[in-house]
Amino acid sequence: MKVAHKQNIRRVLAKVYGIFPSLKNSITILMYHSVNKNMPYSVTPEMFDYQMQILTRDYYVLRICDLGELDSNAMLQSRKKIAVVTFDDGYIDNAQYALPILKKNGIRATFFICSGYVNKKLDITRKFINYLDLKPLTRTHLQDLVNNGMEIGAHTVTHSMLSKLDCWQQENELVSSKAWLEDAIGQKVVSFAYPYGWPRSFNSNTTKLVDKYFDYCCTTIWRSNRFSDITKLNMKALSRIRIDAFDTQRDFLNKLNGSWDYMAYIQLYAKIIEQDLRNCQVLS
Ligand SMILES: [Zn+2]
Repeated sequence: MKVAHKQNIRRVLAKVYGIFPSLKNSITILMYHSVNKNMPYSVTPEMFDYQMQILTRDYYVLRICDLGELDSNAMLQSRKKIAVVTFDDGYIDNAQYALPILKKNGIRATFFICSGYVNKKLDITRKFINYLDLKPLTRTHLQDLVNNGMEIGAHTVTHSMLSKLDCWQQENELVSSKAWLEDAIGQKVVSFAYPYGWPRSFNSNTTKLVDKYFDYCCTTIWRSNRFSDITKLNMKALSRIRIDAFDTQRDFLNKLNGSWDYMAYIQLYAKIIEQDLRNCQVLS
């Protein structure tokens, strides 16, 4: 199925779902990978700048590691909503293009880094053709990000599907990436993002290990994090909304207002729906 067709179908569903959303008390965590003017699947610097301006205007923008400090009462009474900007994997353009725009807009973000990629032990872009041959950040870049107020989180060593590894291998992925990153930046790493991040990409062993080594954990379950009491929000299973190259300005605003949150239902309960749509050849 072509990506543009998929996006069109998702827009139609968002229009229907968008009639109902109510995100008064919510934390919207955005997930980016690459901001780049030369890669067709990357968010352009111009679009990223527009998106950051919207966030600066309408949201309190925090890092993942700040979420535990939130005051429930203050947030419930506030007119502004909360957003978090995250990046996954550790592509070099995060420092080249995204960092200057984040700084310009006064936004502090969280970067989940795959340590084996940044350490040049493996090239994860072989797995993700969207970002083929993109170079990784360096240790110096990581330090520069931290010096500019950004948070570094872990994203395993090899970007493996954790549910396919045994418990010992999973623990090694978590512990080794955390240790390498802490050595690189000279700070504690408290946040983690599951590679792939959808429900079947991790299992009960993974969640136990994450609980042991990290204070916060992000999935890619696609919805806003709604709460009536922030202290009851599960910081080890935070949902995120993916932003990518095919998002128009309208798409971005609709993703922020919750219209695309129906995607979580597709991920969690209705893999069958996508399969059926494929079978019906509606989208091909
Ligand atoms: Zn990743």
